Amino acid sequence: MLSLTVPFQPNETLASYCSRIAALNGIESAAEFASHFGFNFGRLAEGWETDVNVFCALLGSRQGRPADGVVIQSREFVETPGGTFSREFLETDRCRFCPACVANDIGPARRLHRAFGRVEWMMKFVHTCPEHGIRLQTVSGDRLKASDFSAQLRTAIADLENLAGPRSTRPAGFQDYVVNRLRGGPPHGNWLDKFPLQSAAHFTQLLGAVAKYGREPELEEFDDDDWVEVSDIGYAMVSRGEQALDSALDPFFDLKPIRRKISLSMLLGRLSVELLERADQPGYTELLRYLENAARWKHPTLTSELPY
Ligand SMILES: [Zn+2]
Repeated sequence: MLSLTVPFQPNETLASYCSRIAALNGIESAAEFASHFGFNFGRLAEGWETDVNVFCALLGSRQGRPADGVVIQSREFVETPGGTFSREFLETDRCRFCPACVANDIGPARRLHRAFGRVEWMMKFVHTCPEHGIRLQTVSGDRLKASDFSAQLRTAIADLENLAGPRSTRPAGFQDYVVNRLRGGPPHGNWLDKFPLQSAAHFTQLLGAVAKYGREPELEEFDDDDWVEVSDIGYAMVSRGEQALDSALDPFFDLKPIRRKISLSMLLGRLSVELLERADQPGYTELLRYLENAARWKHPTLTSELPY
């Protein structure tokens, strides 16, 4: 068993925890530390049970519940303590962090092993730190070492003060909502609550995008600022409840079809197309059904595009 350990933190990933235990024990690479103790760090970061078990056995039982921070990565999905998400919504190849959180964690004595990686920093729905309101930073390091939090931080630490950008003055409704659900906080009584988090958040972003740019927003051209903006627009619409959402959708349903056959994608463009592409993932079908029913008030003959 290891004699030098630190307490596991709430919302920390298991890979971050292993990374800083390695740092605390004077080994700068988590991979090297792991091989020394008979497990593989890459597999630990991907949630392989055997490696998780070897590492947890090494810790004993005094340091909280590090197994709660397991992140399981498969080819298409990533299972986090806050829910399961399609890979496209999680950053697993690059390490993200809040410079102010890290500065607080390490303290004036700059003890690097005290800084830990939060699960929510991996989420692409999250752009600013919920505590400090500043933009998260991304370390552009070796993709294979992205989970080695302390090692990644070591490359960015000299710049820590310069990295903390200005505090955002934007209302952070969307992001606060996502982070609260990730952390398993009390429900906000929001219309979105009934849908799984990924579909709820993704729908909100797409809704904001079509509200701002019309039926065919160029999503591929969006940068972080664009996504933050459309997420907030969408969130302002959905958080006012179902009636407000229906009136926000209404102008889209005013389209006079040239053809007799009408579908949701003709009315809502990318919003509908993007949701349909993911109809096999939790929550998307329910959202599409809701939208189809809303559209049927004006278009009773609307044909469903849902596969079932
Ligand atoms: Zn922060």
